Amino acid sequence: MIHVTDNTRRVAIIGGGITGLSAAFYLQEQAKLHHYPLEIVLLEGSHRLGGKLQTLRKDGFIIERGPDSFIDRNHTVLDLATKLGIDHDLVQTANAKTYIAVNNKELQPVPKNTILGIPTQIKPFMASNLVSWSGKVRATADWILPPSRIDGDQSLGKFMRRRFGEEFVQNLIEPFLSGVFSGDIDELSLQATLPTLLQYEQETGSVMRGMRRELTSMDPRTFTEEHNAFSVQTFTNGMDIIVDALADAFNGQLMKGVRVQSIKKSNDRVCLALNNKSKLLVDGVVIATPHQAAQKLFSEQQLLQDLKSIPSNTVASVSMIFKDETLPEFDGTDVYMSRNSDYSLTSVTNETMKFPHIAPKGYTLLNCYIGRTGDAAIVELSDSEIEKTVIEDLKQLSGVTEQPVETVVSRWKDSMPQYTIGHIDRIKHAKKELYEAFPTVRLAGNSYEGISLPKCIEQGMKSAEELLDELFK
Ligand SMILES: Cc1cc2nc3c(=O)[nH]c(=O)nc-3n(C[C@H](O)[C@H](O)[C@H](O)COP(=O)(O)OP(=O)(O)OC[C@H]3O[C@@H](n4cnc5c(N)ncnc54)[C@H](O)[C@@H]3O)c2cc1C
Repeated sequence: MIHVTDNTRRVAIIGGGITGLSAAFYLQEQAKLHHYPLEIVLLEGSHRLGGKLQTLRKDGFIIERGPDSFIDRNHTVLDLATKLGIDHDLVQTANAKTYIAVNNKELQPVPKNTILGIPTQIKPFMASNLVSWSGKVRATADWILPPSRIDGDQSLGKFMRRRFGEEFVQNLIEPFLSGVFSGDIDELSLQATLPTLLQYEQETGSVMRGMRRELTSMDPRTFTEEHNAFSVQTFTNGMDIIVDALADAFNGQLMKGVRVQSIKKSNDRVCLALNNKSKLLVDGVVIATPHQAAQKLFSEQQLLQDLKSIPSNTVASVSMIFKDETLPEFDGTDVYMSRNSDYSLTSVTNETMKFPHIAPKGYTLLNCYIGRTGDAAIVELSDSEIEKTVIEDLKQLSGVTEQPVETVVSRWKDSMPQYTIGHIDRIKHAKKELYEAFPTVRLAGNSYEGISLPKCIEQGMKSAEELLDELFK
């Protein structure tokens, strides 16, 4: 129960995705802990919470239209799930085996002990057919090449090519990392996507050596020896249970179907103009929308122009359910397609092999992803054309000949922000400019400091802490 006094501060959170909901949770938690008189209003433009988290439950299947799992390196999701009482619902992947389709050749398994495309042990890498002998010899130059001279940002592709050579990057790094970031490694910023690789290189003289060193000291909950991979987790009853739990825990005012159109100053407060023609006066704001929407809120003041230069990729996930007997035997959980292959698919995940509980016995659920950088047009095709394209690729890939019993196409327009070279400086500048104009307004979400769910939760938490400091210091 909030006792409204003269000191009561009102905070608005714009956007009810995982970032906005996490910001609301931590604002509420910290206000209670420190006895801050705080009112929270959460405004979500659509009629449902969760943003990109969307779980479809149908005939015993759990189909994830957006994120299907996460890697919780800092236990951010675990900590939040524990506070929400849903930690018992977390489950780790049952299997993990990744393949790569290179140049339309046969599928090749990623060598054991390979993390983010980087081998950490020499024997399995040398035994792999993914790269020729000369490519392997070139890749091992990573052990002896001097560290780069750091002068500003560079692309992930350029850094990797220098350390490991062209063939290794084309056949292993590119498909893997382009899949992970839904982007083009030659445009993505090293500093903004994988700064630890630069750190490994600078500290140990080799990316492989640095990665190996980190793995040996890693918490076994994060890295599983059994699967030689980062531990991938999901929620047994579907990813959106964290959305429901956060919504249940929220005791502020929730306004669904209400879009914020602009943000202006009003004396020493902040005034939000809403699409229902009303205005909302608040003391602080967390903007947890995609960056395109955030920028539009200040179009009159010409603020946050830097955000205009953050591109976003359009992707679609195509969930296909097959009867087990209609699929050829295949032990892979994930397949990534290199861009030098003819596939329209960028990756395929066998969800049932990873998480057997998500489908009734006898069925396999594949999540197939399409939409490369510069190829948004494919996502605009009709559902049946997309389905046909995916089936043709699956046929070429693994000999699938039968039709799925069910297909669900989920389009995600401009949904994957690209952290291109200079991203960190752009964000720093945007946040500084915003702080100078509106000291009690914060930006958080997948456009800024990490696209994964744990990173979005961390940003929600950080924005809540900063805002409380600003309002009650
Ligand atoms: C297909 C796909 C697969 C993915 N897979 C994974 C994965 O496996 N693992 C992983 O960790 N991450 C994954 N991600 C990334 C992750 O899902 C997102 O980064 C994360 O969900 C973004 O959350 P968010 O709250 O920042 O933004 P969003 O989820 O986009 O939420 C923003 C909210 O703001 C609302 N909004 C916008 N404008 C306004 C306005 N003016 N007023 C009010 N409300 C507004 C929107 O309606 C929306 O609900 C995936 C993403 C996609 C698209």
